[in-house]
Amino acid sequence: MLKWLKNRREKKKRIAAAKKTYSDDVRIIPRAEHGISRKNIDESAIKVLSRLNKAGYEAYLVGGAVRDLLLGHRPKDFDVATDATPEQVKELFRNCRLIGRRFRLAHIHFGRHIIEVATFRGDHGDSQSGHQDDSGRILRDNVYGDIEQDVWRRDFTVNALYYNIADFSVVDFVGGYEDVMEGRLRLIGDPEDRYREDPVRMIRVIRFAAKLGFSIDESCQDFIRDEGVILRDVPAARLYEEVLKLFHSGHAIKSFQGLRDYYLLEHLFPEASKVLDGNEIALKFLQLAMQSTDERIQQNKPVTPAFLFAALLWAPLQRRTEKRLAKGEPHSLALQKAASAMIGEQVRFVSIPKRFTMVMRDIWALQSRFSYRTGKRATSVFEHPKFRAGYDFLCLRSQAGEINDADCRWWTEFQNNSPEAQQKKTESKQRRRPPRRRNKKPKD
Ligand code: ATP
Ligand code: MG
Repeated sequence: MLKWLKNRREKKKRIAAAKKTYSDDVRIIPRAEHGISRKNIDESAIKVLSRLNKAGYEAYLVGGAVRDLLLGHRPKDFDVATDATPEQVKELFRNCRLIGRRFRLAHIHFGRHIIEVATFRGDHGDSQSGHQDDSGRILRDNVYGDIEQDVWRRDFTVNALYYNIADFSVVDFVGGYEDVMEGRLRLIGDPEDRYREDPVRMIRVIRFAAKLGFSIDESCQDFIRDEGVILRDVPAARLYEEVLKLFHSGHAIKSFQGLRDYYLLEHLFPEASKVLDGNEIALKFLQLAMQSTDERIQQNKPVTPAFLFAALLWAPLQRRTEKRLAKGEPHSLALQKAASAMIGEQVRFVSIPKRFTMVMRDIWALQSRFSYRTGKRATSVFEHPKFRAGYDFLCLRSQAGEINDADCRWWTEFQNNSPEAQQKKTESKQRRRPPRRRNKKPKD
């Protein structure tokens, strides 16, 4: 009897939430029309949505998840938006942790899996909890609001659809449903204001276009081409995160092309961008590196940012090294110094954590050592902890036509041999070397 009463009360609350009235220009797409099935929504996300709703709060699945479900893709993550404050969310879930300063969020933990719950954001205005700098960039954003205000802080219309757990409808305030159906990326509001508010949106639009195969609405194109330079106001650490998302989501080749088409590469990797102009081989090499990253991700193989950054900076690094060689510096010193200067210059734009710059240096330094095929020097190349990455890098260079394929072929064969055969291979070469003549008499 008690259970029955409880259920009835819950249902009443649900109905009340479902009956929530929105402003006139909203479009509600009912379950029968949009075709999103709960089967395809993450179980933990459903649990979070349902519990919030049962407690009398509004609860929606938002962002990329709704967009991807409409497209029949499996979403990467399932984000939730609610009118409950982070503290109220915490009261409902034992497995909840509050995080973030710029955006205060609730993380609900299910083992290693996390569902992110965000409270609806409101207008920043002049309030203490929200803050913009002189160029319009949002610095802090902790003013809570309702769903109709929350829509306006999202970037693209296709990312601003809300799946309502109360009645399984999709709520659309900005024409996002039609844009998903037509494969179009459109910023909510005035494009210029929205890009200025957060220049990272220029990179995001390239990423979504690459990932979803969507077109970029004309209204959102010109500003990127003309004003990409505002990316330079974004902290290098944030750009690192965004660049990683661009290149490590399985669509690196298309994203890279997008950056070039919209003249953004020059603001992220200025030196690389300059060297690439008219350099077919360097461009081919980068495309091969991106392609191999995409393939590895599709095959669920691990990828490291070090490899990609090493590839992106390879052509300008060589240019710097050559200048030093021309001044008479020995090769390994020239490379080391050029690498330090190259990295130092690059991290002013897009930062790269030290643990990765160290691997990049290893990959670069190994390149000239692959010509050692005998004795201890060859063995130490093979035993180098970054041998595999260095070797992959070497073979991409020969595939691109930068070097001939002798070294790549030799090391490929070498790895396929048994340890005994490997030893023989390095030894036999050693024996073939002509003995060094000492005390050679000078000719008269
Ligand atoms: P993905 O599938 O790649 O994760 P996503 O759309 O979920 O794509 P996220 O970066 O996970 O993208 O962000 C989640 C949601 O938060 C977005 O859909 C968008 O509504 C909002 N959002 C994220 N970053 C921004 C931003 N810079 N400006 C405005 N809204 C943003
Ligand atoms: Mg996401």
